[in-house]
Order: sequence, then C-alpha cells, then structure tokens
Amino acid sequence: MDGNYAEAFSLSGMSSPVEIVDQVISQAAKMNASDILFEPQEKETLVRLRVDGVLQVFGVMPPGSYDQALARIKVLANMDVTENRKPQEAKIRVEVEGHPYVLRVAVVSTNFGQMVALRVLDLPQYSEFEALGMSPLIVDKIKKNIEGRYGLFLVAGPTGAGKTTTVHTCLKYLNNGEVNIMTLEDPVEYVIGGINQIEVGEDIGMDFANGLRMMLRLNPDVVFVGEIRDSETAKVAIQAALTGHLVISTIHARNSVGALYRMMDLGVDKYMLNYALRAVMSQRLLRRVCEHCRAEYVPTQEEVERYVAEAGQALGELFAGKGCEMCRQTKFAGRVGIYELLEVDDEVRKLVFSGAGETEFREEMGKRGFTGMSREGVRLVNEGVTSLKEYLRTMYDAR
Ligand SMILES: [Zn+2]
Repeated sequence: MDGNYAEAFSLSGMSSPVEIVDQVISQAAKMNASDILFEPQEKETLVRLRVDGVLQVFGVMPPGSYDQALARIKVLANMDVTENRKPQEAKIRVEVEGHPYVLRVAVVSTNFGQMVALRVLDLPQYSEFEALGMSPLIVDKIKKNIEGRYGLFLVAGPTGAGKTTTVHTCLKYLNNGEVNIMTLEDPVEYVIGGINQIEVGEDIGMDFANGLRMMLRLNPDVVFVGEIRDSETAKVAIQAALTGHLVISTIHARNSVGALYRMMDLGVDKYMLNYALRAVMSQRLLRRVCEHCRAEYVPTQEEVERYVAEAGQALGELFAGKGCEMCRQTKFAGRVGIYELLEVDDEVRKLVFSGAGETEFREEMGKRGFTGMSREGVRLVNEGVTSLKEYLRTMYDAR
C-alpha cells in the first residue's frame, strides 16, 4: 500500500457503526469496487476498497465502532456472532438502489483482531458482445462456436478479468426460448430469465462435478459450469461436451494456450481434449487512463525494455494519468477489455498431439498468424487509452 492513511477520513464521525457498514457497502457498489476489506491494525481498523483492480483506502474506524460493525456484518451473513477465533465464510445478498448484489464474506483472525474480506461478485452487464470492447472478428468467432451447440467453450483469465460478464453475454445470446440452458454457479449471482440456474458450494453439499452429473440427467442443451478447477470437473465437462451438449466454462489460466495446458495438467487426455474443445477465449480488463488528467509519460528503462520485447517495435509517445479530482487521484476511470480467441482446428490439434511445450505452442501459433490479446493491449497503450504500467501489471502480475 502506498500513501499515508493517517489522513484517511475517520468513519466513526459519520453515523452509527451499523450505518457505516451499510454505507460502505453501498458506496463500494456505486464505485464498482470488487472487494471491501476491514483490516484491524494496532490502533484502528483500516477500510479499503478494490476499484478497477487496485486497493484504495476508504477510511479508518476506532476499535469500539469496529466491534459493532463486525457484529453487523456477521448478522447480515448469518454467521456465529460469538465465534472470534475460527474462520467463517458466507454470502450476503443486498440491494443498492434497486440493484441486487451478492457479497462473499470471509472473517479470519489476525494478530490485531478479526479481519473481514467482502468480495463483490462480478457484475455482468448483460450487454451485447460489441459493448464489451470485442472486435467484430472475435464476436463472429464466439457466435460461430457457441451456435454449434456442442463441444466445450472455455473462457480463461485471472480473477477479475471479466470472465463472468463474457459468459453471461454468451448465455443471453443463446437464450432464445428454444433451448434448455442450465447453469451451475457458486453462487448464483444474477438471475437470468428463462435459464435454469443451480447453486453449488460447500454449504449446499454439491460441487461442480457432481452437480454436472446430476444436471446431465435433466437433458440440457447448453450447460454453464462456473469454473473448472479440479480434475473431476474437467473430466465430466469433457464427457458432457462429447455427448451432444454445449458446455461453457471458465478456467484460471494466463491465456488461451495456457488454458489448454491447464486442462492437460488436470488430467484430461489429449485425444479427449482435441475432440471436445471448440475454442478458448482469454481476456483482461485494463484500467482506462483518466481523460481529465492524461499527460505524456516518460517510462523507466525497464519499462522501455519490456515494451520493446512485448510490442516488437520502438517506443512512441506514452501517456498516463497524473491524478485529479475527477478520478479521485487514482489516475484512471473505467476499464476496457482485451481479448483473444483460439479455435481448435486441425493445426491446433496437431500441436496438442505433438506434445509441444507451452512456449513452443504459442510461438507456432504466432507464425500461423494467431494474434493474442497482447497486440490489442499494445495498441491501447500506443493510443493512450491505457498506460504501459497498467498493461504490464494486468498481463503479468494479475493472479
Ligand atoms: Zn484524473
């Protein structure tokens, strides 16, 4: 964390601790924050929000108020209010200005008290593909692959890359009343009319793998499995994709090629993968430079070297935000997506069978004209839409 939070505004003078919690949550929703942290320090509790992927201090609370705020959060989450040692996890559903939000809550003990981490689950915008910043070429490819209604369609990226929004846009596109679309989500974040959404999770006693097996008996045409994160789910998803269903899922991987290797790491057989997988998308969300304080930016030597390696061209003029009132000194305002889509064709299948390593695979694809999302990212850097620092951070430091 940078900056001195001693000057952060004290939340205690604001109103009662109960109201503070409600206000922090509604403020976080309005700012499109993805996380809210209540972090007990030696003297007071720090409240931070993650906006556009980066934490910023929202305020501080004295110990007495924090105890009451903590109790309020536990009540909202149906947690044991008296438990102060064991970690607890739950979900909170709230409404802010008529819009429903689901927050995943975790409470853990740290050396200065109980810390609360609230994750505001991804907000699908239910917009058209084009509105997500995708090029017409990518949109055509997505449509072609999901309209086929069989096989596996994967969306890869780290946490916070906007995968949920892309998936929901796909489901909305397919939701024409003529197909049975079923989803397995942990948790169901937003209700979509005409789609059968099923919640899975430890608290429900059903995971993605056994939920998917159960669901296949209900004869769906399209299945969305929230995430492939274990071998069991990967294998059942492949089976489903090979038996006449379109399976859409997300996977935690750096890029589309990485997702193929992740599936193999999870124990999926190369042959099965080659026949089941139709395409893999990969994406990132980059913060847009604030238009009100955008100025020319002089990069460090290291940044210059990384740019040249990345872009394969000499560096032109660069831009970055300076920080202003309009962007609350964050230098950014809003986000923009970058995408790549790898279709599994004969050439890709050959590469999978060949046992090539991941780097070699990507190089081969490059020679065949595959353009990854880095090209799109470099273009946005050159146009000053995002900064070089932001691009490098999102591409390489995101988890
Ligand atoms: Zn600004």
